[in-house]
Amino acid sequence: MSAPGGIARDSCPFCGERPRFRWWDYIPSRYGSSVDCNLCGATARVATQTNMMGVLSFLFVVVAVIFALMKPLGPKLTIPVALIAGLAVAMGVMRVFMRLDPPDQV
Ligand SMILES: [Zn+2]
Repeated sequence: MSAPGGIARDSCPFCGERPRFRWWDYIPSRYGSSVDCNLCGATARVATQTNMMGVLSFLFVVVAVIFALMKPLGPKLTIPVALIAGLAVAMGVMRVFMRLDPPDQV
């Protein structure tokens, strides 16, 4: 289950090479996006914990921004700003907490 020693948590669970992440890999998704390792060709999955961190921070930021800006700005401006801010923060959090799991691991 645990990765062999010396392998960074955001690297390929099979060979330890750090795959090239695309920006959409940092968007939280229900099942975790797949990342292809460019060294061994294996497909790894963004860990559930990483996705959870992304989803939670997204929701937190969206709610916080809506509470902060709804009165002065109104819903037309607040909701797009909240979604963009939430996505930006979620992607940052996903990048910090990025971990890759083998695809069969839940
Ligand atoms: Zn690999």
